[in-house]
Amino acid sequence: MTRLFDSHCHLDAPALDPDRDDVIARAIERGVDGVLVPAVSPERWDALAALRARWSAVRIAIGVHPYVIASCAVDDALATMEARATALGAVAIGECGFDRRVAIDLARQSEIVDAHVEVARARELPIVLHVVGTHGLALERMERHGPLRAGGVVHAWSGPAELVARWVALGFSIGIGPVVTWARARRVKESARVVPLERLLVETDAPDGHLEGATRGEPSDVDEVVRAVAAERDVRAQELRVATWANAIRLFG
Ligand SMILES: [Zn+2]
Repeated sequence: MTRLFDSHCHLDAPALDPDRDDVIARAIERGVDGVLVPAVSPERWDALAALRARWSAVRIAIGVHPYVIASCAVDDALATMEARATALGAVAIGECGFDRRVAIDLARQSEIVDAHVEVARARELPIVLHVVGTHGLALERMERHGPLRAGGVVHAWSGPAELVARWVALGFSIGIGPVVTWARARRVKESARVVPLERLLVETDAPDGHLEGATRGEPSDVDEVVRAVAAERDVRAQELRVATWANAIRLFG
């Protein structure tokens, strides 16, 4: 069976506490053999690392999500992030990002992303970016930093297809999530068609990210994401399984 890589899954989320072992078993059954679990809160960095003992497919990223900026000791986290990333064996820095829905000034959010970029540069690790409702600002900020040697991903892409090329020029990959299976997700479907094959990643963003009609997501959903992207691009799903696995390994391997 071809292996699948879920490039963004919050496998540590409390919503998966009741049946995490079953969720993992279903993912393995569907061929998922790689999963990047990005940090949300620094309080859970250690718990992420512990997940690897439960499933060898797990790789982790260390960072501070915009959702928790107001409720955690951000400056302490940023000050220790580089050392902790090394100690915990993180393969990426994040997730961090820009979110217009969060009640934190975007200038402050941008500064926090800058601190992540510094660590990503110092450790030569890719960066995992969350961008919601502020695609122009995020891109301009990252263009100011210039290309990062280890690249990165704009995960759960929700931006306009016209911006894909600028992120790609900056060295970023684009993570297409389960929203691509939603009938009304015109913008994500359009974007899924234009991402260069070698920069395409698939993800579930589970458990909050979910397939059309579901209320919770899990990593086994990633094959449905691949099928939906393949349908948009008018290629065989198998071709995308192979390509997205190779792309994820190149970035997070
Ligand atoms: Zn996330």
